[in-house]
Amino acid sequence: MEQRLRELAQEALRALEGANTPEELNHIRVHYLGKKGEVTQVLRGMGALPAEERPRIGQVANEVREQIETALAARNQHVKEAQRSLRLAAETLDVSLPGVRFDLGKLHPLTQVLREIETIFLGLGFQIAEGPEIELDYYNFEALNLPKDHPARDMQDTFFINPEVLLRTHTSPVQVRTMEKTVPHVPVKVICPGRVYRRDDDATHSPMFHQVEGLVVDKQITFADLKGVLATFARQMFGPATRTRLRPSYFPFTEPSAEVDISCFNCQGSGCRVCKGSGWLEILGSGMVHPRVLEMSGYNPEEVTGFAFGMGVERIAMLKYGIDDLRLLFDNDIRFLEQF
Ligand SMILES: [Zn+2]
Repeated sequence: MEQRLRELAQEALRALEGANTPEELNHIRVHYLGKKGEVTQVLRGMGALPAEERPRIGQVANEVREQIETALAARNQHVKEAQRSLRLAAETLDVSLPGVRFDLGKLHPLTQVLREIETIFLGLGFQIAEGPEIELDYYNFEALNLPKDHPARDMQDTFFINPEVLLRTHTSPVQVRTMEKTVPHVPVKVICPGRVYRRDDDATHSPMFHQVEGLVVDKQITFADLKGVLATFARQMFGPATRTRLRPSYFPFTEPSAEVDISCFNCQGSGCRVCKGSGWLEILGSGMVHPRVLEMSGYNPEEVTGFAFGMGVERIAMLKYGIDDLRLLFDNDIRFLEQF
């Protein structure tokens, strides 16, 4: 029995020398020292030994167990170190490799311009109002003094969904909805930014584009208020030297109406390619709210007056950044967009 134990010890030590992973080591440990292991099996047979031999065999068994355990621990240390060096070798960093580049996103030029416009009017005490893009004929036209047979409807080629429902052609319906919500209180002082739709498609028109309209209704609002607000806006948007001029115009929902031009920020009025030699750039339409429009929204035009204005965000962006084809703004070509 003693010899068998010594053999097992030699066998185990040899096996350990060939073990290279923690799994193999564990397998060897179980195989020799486990509950059903070889050494344990031999010891089970001790009962059959004469009593005087048992202590000696017991001592040999302990020696063998200790021998195997010591070898196991040593090999375990060796395997761990070997694996660690392997891992370190595999994890070597090449600090000269170029890094992974993350491209930073940025705001679309239209969003930038829109936010700039909003910030200016918020600073002037306006609030932002929004409304549906799919709109009733009533809010888009009728409540703005454009009854069904009005010839000025032809100015806005409209996408109709049915005779009463359409894609809004301007954000003016939001003005009407805001007045309806506010009446009989004053003041109303809002800008209405948003998408609008018209059947137009060329270098300076798109079937979908963005407008910002503004509306002020209060007691004793005059044309001077309109001029003051828009001149302030123009100076903040295009530079402190910007001058404005008003030209008589016609809109069904304002009376009197005016187009607002600003002095060309590119040539300061002396004439250039941007202003087509005139020194002026048309940027928005405006006017005093038509008494009929106030009336339809529930206000008494004898008691309150108001002014309204509207501008195309694309047009402002094109002027500001010198873009000559509006469609570039919607192609979403990164090479174009990252310039702004
Ligand atoms: Zn110019």
